[in-house]
Amino acid sequence: MYGNNLGIYIHVPFCISKCPYCDFYSVVPENLESYTHSICREIEKWGRKSDKIVNTIYFGGGTPSLLSCNVIGKIIECIHENFNVLNPEITMEVNPADYAFVDFKELKNFGLSRVSLGAQSVCDEELKKLGRRHKKNDIVMTLDSLRKANIDNISLDLMLGIPVQTIDSIETFINFCKINEIKHVSAYLLKIEKGTKFYANREKLSLPNDDESADIYEYTVRCLENKGYFQYEISNFSMPGFESRHNLKYWNLEEYIGIGPSAHSLFEGKRFYYKNSLRDFLINPEICFEGNCDSREEYCMLRLRLADGINANLYKKKFGTDIPEIYFQRAKKYISAGLVDVDKNGIYLTKKGFLLSNTIIGEI
Ligand code: SF4
Repeated sequence: MYGNNLGIYIHVPFCISKCPYCDFYSVVPENLESYTHSICREIEKWGRKSDKIVNTIYFGGGTPSLLSCNVIGKIIECIHENFNVLNPEITMEVNPADYAFVDFKELKNFGLSRVSLGAQSVCDEELKKLGRRHKKNDIVMTLDSLRKANIDNISLDLMLGIPVQTIDSIETFINFCKINEIKHVSAYLLKIEKGTKFYANREKLSLPNDDESADIYEYTVRCLENKGYFQYEISNFSMPGFESRHNLKYWNLEEYIGIGPSAHSLFEGKRFYYKNSLRDFLINPEICFEGNCDSREEYCMLRLRLADGINANLYKKKFGTDIPEIYFQRAKKYISAGLVDVDKNGIYLTKKGFLLSNTIIGEI
């Protein structure tokens, strides 16, 4: 049911400073040697449990670009030694502020094939408001280094609903992507999470309301599609053939192993996680059981995030049965409002439906 492929996610929990909107677990870089040692020890542990084929590896964070190339290379090598690895997509998240310290040519020699750049904006004023360490010029310089290393499978993050952001600056970002032949864009609406600096100051930030956010999102989708970026998931857009193979595993309910503090796994029908603590990970890296995966329900919820939706053939291939009739019945009540499409091939959210995805997916 879960297929014969496996993804590996390596969590790098280090950040030099905390962005005021971020609620991810991160710490200032420390104990890098012990961290690398612990990651490799956990890779060996998991490697003994699985003989599946690893075809995606993803370094996420935090800030993976704070690790030296040798450390990244060592971790990739360790994965090769402990798993069956075949033609892997190897992605690394990069903070544009770090470009001068990252040797992309060397990383490419280790197998790096894809870079996800935490650009967020190409407007320096917006980047300042977001408390980012980089400016537009760092993004330009990173892209230049990537080009010289012949890495062209590049994704840029775009944050929407930033204080001081305008429709023009979103268009400028998308034009920048097009001109620089960027293959993939992840566009997320800024969410004000409890416990962040932005949450504490939310009254003073001039943030768009729900209707304005919806307009910004719809405008962004239109603008990206006009430039040839296909929306394959609620927040993800790509040129044909450049979808994130690793992230598609999450939405297709395929197995993945997450290693590092706060990383999550789906393995043999069960969900696991490591605690949000670097210290625990270094001293006593316990793989905690989160619960059994309710495969059919979770699969449908995740697939509705994709433009392909719940596809009848794929569902049958995965579970050996047709899509349960109850899902069609619940989905049908959203058709007249233009939020959902239903046909013999399956159930899909429309672009308008993507905007209300949380509610509709929950209901279906
Ligand atoms: S760099 Fe990324 S993970 Fe680190 S604080 Fe900023 S948003 Fe959060």
